[in-house]
Amino acid sequence: MTAPQTAHLHASTGTLLEDHDVLLLDLDGVVYVGPDAVPHAPEALRGAVDAGHRLGFITNNASRPPATVAAHLRDLGVPAADEDVVNSAQAAADHLARELPAGSPVLLVGTTGLREALTGAGLRPTEDRHEAVAVVQGFSPDLGWQQLAEATHAVRSGVPWVATNLDATVPTPGGPAPGNGLLVDLVARAAGRGPDVVCGKPERALFDAAVARLGARRALVVGDRLDTDLQGARTAGLDGLLVLTGVTGVRELLAAAAHERPTHVGRDLRSLGDVHPAVEVTVQGGTAGEEVVATCRDAVVRVQDGRLGTGACGAGPDGLDVLRAAASAVWAAADAGAALTGDALADAVTSLTAAG
Ligand SMILES: [Mg+2]
Repeated sequence: MTAPQTAHLHASTGTLLEDHDVLLLDLDGVVYVGPDAVPHAPEALRGAVDAGHRLGFITNNASRPPATVAAHLRDLGVPAADEDVVNSAQAAADHLARELPAGSPVLLVGTTGLREALTGAGLRPTEDRHEAVAVVQGFSPDLGWQQLAEATHAVRSGVPWVATNLDATVPTPGGPAPGNGLLVDLVARAAGRGPDVVCGKPERALFDAAVARLGARRALVVGDRLDTDLQGARTAGLDGLLVLTGVTGVRELLAAAAHERPTHVGRDLRSLGDVHPAVEVTVQGGTAGEEVVATCRDAVVRVQDGRLGTGACGAGPDGLDVLRAAASAVWAAADAGAALTGDALADAVTSLTAAG
């Protein structure tokens, strides 16, 4: 996989809804956080459906079956059919079903959602590692030491090990908490080897399945996480909208590597109804070093001598034009070998947070 040479924010032609026919939405941190809707999400998604768009809900979290997730979405006022939810448990079960004879016993390290996905794919979930011919591990808030120990013994014996995803954290109302990636890592460290296959984002299988299922001609990925949603969008060749309602803040956006940068940034899902502006970036080499100037409508931002400076700054209709210009300037500087680090990055975050 090769990252694009330059990976920057794009201008949209019309609104993001006018430019795309299908929305592939991450759930946690985009549509809901824990039991509650993200502000403005249900209204924005009802508007998208009223305008003729199809929604796909693409989640690495395999702890709940799609029908349960869809029912939760409908309770929050989000239009969702059971088949619109595509999760990494389904992707993991489908993968194992292609590799193993029907009815094969698979050690289940996870919850109901993963159990139903295995059964639905024609495999037999088991808690007995001695009969298991493979191990599948997905996020479960109820996972205990005993199950992790059983998984470790099975994995060390050499049977195939499939992880639904490697998300380090899951968002909760109290902040980020350990996710499947850290639980997989516990087993990996104890067993002395990692999983053979990972199915969820940022791998493109989940997006490809959703594009096919929904018949998308031009899909927009919407996510809150750079290293899964937005990296996955780039890997799958799709536009990606980062919303700032989840785990990614100003600091993470500025520090984004080229392969995980969004094509659009919005405060929340209301941003789907906005025309997204162009950002012009110029890089000038000189005896004093590189200077990068980024302009987004009335916002002008410079990076010089490893520092970010915000000059004449109109924040724009949604208040994010300074951030758009700053991210583009910092990315261009990083691509030119002059990434902001340490105090300079912290100062940039402070000034942007104060401005925004
Ligand atoms: Mg998320």
